[in-house]
Amino acid sequence: MNTAYILNKNHLSFWLRTLKSTHELIAPTRDVSGDIVLTELQRMHETALDGPALMPSPKEFLLPQMEQLFCYSEEGIEEALNKRPRVLFGIRPCDLSAIRILDTFYLGKTKDAYYEARRSRTVLIAIACNRPDPTCFCLGLGTGPFLKSGFDLQLTDLGDRFLVETGSETGASLVTAYPHIFTEPKPADGDDLYETRLASQSQFEKRVNLEQVRKHIQAGAVSDAFWESVAVRCFECGGCVYNCPVCTCFNVIDRAASSEAGKRVRLWDTCMFKGFTRTAGGVIPAEAKINRTKRWFHHKLIHWPEQFGAFGCVGCGRCAISCPGTIDMATVALRIKGESKAEEK
Ligand code: SF4
Ligand code: SF4
Repeated sequence: MNTAYILNKNHLSFWLRTLKSTHELIAPTRDVSGDIVLTELQRMHETALDGPALMPSPKEFLLPQMEQLFCYSEEGIEEALNKRPRVLFGIRPCDLSAIRILDTFYLGKTKDAYYEARRSRTVLIAIACNRPDPTCFCLGLGTGPFLKSGFDLQLTDLGDRFLVETGSETGASLVTAYPHIFTEPKPADGDDLYETRLASQSQFEKRVNLEQVRKHIQAGAVSDAFWESVAVRCFECGGCVYNCPVCTCFNVIDRAASSEAGKRVRLWDTCMFKGFTRTAGGVIPAEAKINRTKRWFHHKLIHWPEQFGAFGCVGCGRCAISCPGTIDMATVALRIKGESKAEEK
């Protein structure tokens, strides 16, 4: 059961400073050009909790775009496991939900030691979304705009104060250590929380039911002609995959410094690239663009639920922002629903 506290906004900087004294503190930060980026927070007043979906997503801090796994030489192998305790502060509920999905992938039967090293030392502090972006559709997926569980702490902006919910013992310890700034909520705080959540839910412009879309695909109601009409708009830039907080594809390469020494590196990869399925001998099973586009949607809407019990999408809307060809989950899902209805007539 979550316990709630009130944190006056005047005390936020103090609290962040205390978190920074014991953890690497990553937070949405306004940089010199006014952009909001997720980065290590240096000056507390630069925290920006009211920005849009962050690029890159918090995935970058658990599965970096490029990371050294180990280096090797004649003396042996030296692993590069990250051991710093870290707080991801002010991340959106959809992104936190995406991390929970990444956990099922990287910490399932076969644990990824590098992911686990980061994840086990990372505290997740979410901020509920009071104003969803026009591209957001987490509401229909249960991945936002606020969460019931899964976080260490969840903050909701109530104007001059935050309502802070604890979701784990780790989260609770970061609050109960400072009883002079975290106080008990009053009945009016509960009323404000209720109204804030109601107002947030009413602002969603996009309503997407992925479960219906999944059923349409599984019933064979989506033709190859439809997927061709989607694929023809794809520039094969990979932006959808790189920016998606749930996509997990990576490649591993060795970079030799000499015949005896070098390093092994992991990099993000994307199934939207032709070479992703290249095999020895040069055969590429998913050479046609339609196969790659169709597979990305099938993977997220059918195979993820089968394997992991959740869609490979949390409704963050980043693919809508990043795709130059308007091939984003919400648009394609709504087109599938429309097309399936037309076929039913
Ligand atoms: S598929 Fe698009 S909307 Fe869904 S989680 Fe990935 S980037 Fe966000
Ligand atoms: S972002 Fe759009 S254009 Fe780029 S690879 Fe993804 S679907 Fe294709």
